[in-house]
Order: sequence, then structure tokens, then C-alpha cells
Amino acid sequence: MIKINENYLKLQASYLFSDIARRVAAHQQANPQGDLIKLGIGDVTRPLPDACIQAFHRAVDEMADEASFHGYGPEQGYDFLREAIAKNDFQALGADIQADEIFVSDGAKCDSGNFQEIFATDIRVAIPDPVYPVYVDTNVMAGRTGEAKDGRYEGLVYLEGTKANGFIPALPSEPVDLIYLCFPNNPTGAMATREQLQQWVDYARDHKALILYDAAYVAFIQDPDLPRSIYEIEGAREVAVEFRSFSKNAGFTGTRCAYTVVPKSCMAWTAGGEAVAVHGLWNRRHTTKFNSVSYPVQRAAEAVYSEAGQEQVAELVAYYMTNARYIREQMEELGYDCIGGVNSPYIWIDAKGDSWDFFDTLLNRAEVVCTPGAGFGRCGEGYIRISAFNSRDNVERAMARIRAALG
Ligand code: PLP
Repeated sequence: MIKINENYLKLQASYLFSDIARRVAAHQQANPQGDLIKLGIGDVTRPLPDACIQAFHRAVDEMADEASFHGYGPEQGYDFLREAIAKNDFQALGADIQADEIFVSDGAKCDSGNFQEIFATDIRVAIPDPVYPVYVDTNVMAGRTGEAKDGRYEGLVYLEGTKANGFIPALPSEPVDLIYLCFPNNPTGAMATREQLQQWVDYARDHKALILYDAAYVAFIQDPDLPRSIYEIEGAREVAVEFRSFSKNAGFTGTRCAYTVVPKSCMAWTAGGEAVAVHGLWNRRHTTKFNSVSYPVQRAAEAVYSEAGQEQVAELVAYYMTNARYIREQMEELGYDCIGGVNSPYIWIDAKGDSWDFFDTLLNRAEVVCTPGAGFGRCGEGYIRISAFNSRDNVERAMARIRAALG
């Protein structure tokens, strides 16, 4: 008899985006002439930068010719891309990251979901609340939790983000081994300072813990004093893995390219206390289960680092950040407290009541779809997230309708 992994049965049935889809579908059925504006999910709307498109085309042409055809690539990514990443995203910041510490992949979702596989099931895992749901669900699937009760799984340590701490969680009061951090944060848009990250790195060093640092939104940081990578923080090379993605800065959500940085100095331990390099474990996992990102996609990603690519990516980011500032200003003028939208494309808004009620109000009175904060964890209750990923026109129309509905 084929048996299932029963951990899957612990996963909470009503997944956030399917709940939203159900309410949106019901609204559309009742209002078939309506004109909904979706500021809910974090998918980009602008086309790929021209530099990426040109590189993509050239690489596709190479695939058409036997002399320049590429079959399977190196699982860790082509050197041309790994070197461009190490040089531009880390060495340029003064962070000591080498090309062979970069693992190119098809998404930060898969990497941040898969990374836990290389650790024991009985480790203690700390996860922020509110949070990108992938970190929680993949640990549930792996059997690191008990059942969910009131929206929280037994066995996980929740790092609470609240208005009082500016949605930057405090260090845990009990020892933990694996720590997920996400800055700029999805969903709150909050960004940690160097001093705050230093506390986490020091904690990890003191406790022989490892930080999984998701920096998928790093390109949206505007404040020059904020850290662009955890490797700008002293000691992080020993205790932190960083996830990055081309999805949000360069519009690769449908093209798929990302990478994970695993410094060779990061260690994890056997039950007998012997140190093992995390780099070797991840290399083994990645080469066993992943067969590289396609050559044209890696060439398109490399073009992000060309002079033209850098300019075009900066324009894309500026476009969305103008939306973000506008949304935040408008909501504040309407009397709502906001976090985010300054160093991130998400605006996290105090709904002054139930998240889902506010969601329904925006849907039914303004025909605008947002994301209810309750879907990101218990601490998200009472908030909604509005995403800046849409056209200027749609954002302006959406905000005019929200003003009319709430003003
Ligand atoms: N990490 C965070 C925090 C995200 O919000 C997202 C996407 O929304 C991802 C990772 C996924 O990135 P990718 O498109 O590279 O899989």
C-alpha cells in the first residue's frame, strides 16, 4: 500500500491566494461589467529590460547552430553569470563572496523552500510572523512541526513583527538552530538596519545557528545607509546563506532565474559534533536534484549587469517605487498608518479592524484587490498589503477609487 507523507495533512487547507481568488470570482460573477484592479500578488507587470531581451535573442540564435549549441549546463550555473553576480552584487559592496559560492537556480521560491532539506528534522526553526508562507509550509512538509492550532504550528518558534517593533522581530528568547529572515520584508516592506542584522549574525555565531536571509527585494532599497547584503555584516560569512532573485528587479517572474549564496565558511554539525561545510551539502543537493537554468535565460540574467542593463533595471525599480510612494501617501492622507513602500514595493497598512473585512470593502466598494495580512500569519491580522507592481495608470485609478470608497 502506497502511504502518503502525513505531514502534508497538517498544512492549513485554505491557502491565502485561493481564498482571495474565490472572493474575487464571486465578486466578478455578481458584477460582470466590473473593472477590477489587482494590487494583490507580487507579480511584476513591466516587460523585460531591453538589454536582457537582446541577450536572450542572441543566445537563442546560438542554440540554432551546432557550433554554438548548448546542452546541459553546469548545475551550479555558468561561470559567466556566477562571476558577474559575485563581482557586481557582492564584491562591489566590499563583501567577500566568490563565484564558486553562487548557485544559480530557477527561483528564490524553490531555493528558500528546498534549503531546509539538508538539515536534521529535529532542529529548532525560527520563522518571522508575518511571513512569506513558503518557509513555514516547507518545514511542515519536512515534518519539523506538530499540528496547526489557531494558525500556528507546534514546534516552530515565531518571531513576531508588530507595530511596536516596526515589524523587525526581536531575537528569540529560546535557542534556535535555523533562522529565516526576509529583508526588505514580504509582506510588511520593513527593512532591517546594519545594527539589527549584526545582532542576528552575533546570535547565530553564539548559538551555532544558521540564518537563511531572503533578499529577493534588495533592489528596492532606497536608503544608502541600509545594507544591500547580509555579507556586509561582520561575521555573516560564517553563519548566513542569502537568497536572491532576478524576478522583481529585472522582471524575471515568468522567465525564472535566481541564485543562492552559500559561503564556504558556513558550517553545520553532525549529531557527534563534527563540523560539515554547508556549501558541500548544498552542492550535493543541488547537483543531484537540479539540472541548471537554460543557457538563454542565464545570458539574459547576465545582461542585467551590463551598463545598459543596470540603467534599465534602475528605471524599472524607480517606476514601481514611484507607485509605492504614491500608494503610501494616499493611504496616509486617508488616515491609515503604513509601513513599507519606502525601501520595498509593498505597503503594509493598518486596516483598523479585521483584514478580511477591509479586503472585502476594497473589493466591493473600490473594485481593488489587495492581500489581507491575516494570510501571512497571526501578526498580520489587522493589516492589508498593497503591491506597487502595476501600471501607473492602474495605481492612480485604484487610489482614486479607494479615496472615494474610504474618504
Ligand atoms: N522570496 C520572497 C520573499 C518572495 O516574496 C518571492 C516572491 O514573491 C520569492 C522569494 C520568489 O522569488 P522567485 O520568483 O525567484 O521564485
